[in-house]
Amino acid sequence: MSQTNEVKHCLNCNVTENEIPLINLNFTGRKEFICSRCLPILIHSPQKLVGKLDGADKIPSGNH
Ligand SMILES: [Zn+2]
Repeated sequence: MSQTNEVKHCLNCNVTENEIPLINLNFTGRKEFICSRCLPILIHSPQKLVGKLDGADKIPSGNH
């Protein structure tokens, strides 16, 4: 693993903090980052993040 901790990546699309603002998530004792573009996915369809975010299948989605 040569991933550096210097530049943060979106957990979903891997965009870096240098391209799009990333939002800091604290989840299951881990620190993750998601970009503003992917945040609606986390809010409305967290199931789509299964495999990318551990425990995503347990996140309740915001129903409207
Ligand atoms: Zn993203």
